[in-house]
Amino acid sequence: MLQDDRTLNLPCPCGSGKPYQDCCQPAISGQTPAATAEALMRSRYTAFALGQVDYLIETLAPKQRRPDDAAILAEQSASTTWTGLQIIDRRKGRPRDERGEVEFIASFEAGGEKGRLHERSRFRRERGRWVYVDGEVEILPGL
Ligand SMILES: [Zn+2]
Repeated sequence: MLQDDRTLNLPCPCGSGKPYQDCCQPAISGQTPAATAEALMRSRYTAFALGQVDYLIETLAPKQRRPDDAAILAEQSASTTWTGLQIIDRRKGRPRDERGEVEFIASFEAGGEKGRLHERSRFRRERGRWVYVDGEVEILPGL
């Protein structure tokens, strides 16, 4: 997995322009929970890109978890290459909010086809940590 010293200095997959170790890595490694809904969303995108299935489940609202999540997420992560993230809009989700929404487009390639996932995600704070609740999703053709 992308955890050695060299990858820590590479640009973060979420496209922030910061090195991975100064962006999504502290959240994914469990050192520092994401402070905002957008930071959680970015770190989940990065976890999808890197196949960090445990983190994806930890940051899913407990009510939304299903017994086969790990298998499905591992399968998706193996068959999909995430190629870019664009944040379109955010509502609340700041460090003192209890709820937040983030709208984004995540580009991907799967089975030789390019596509874009357009989602407005809803997040909630549970026991002080942001979790992903659900979202309205549409799949768009790739560019
Ligand atoms: Zn990042």
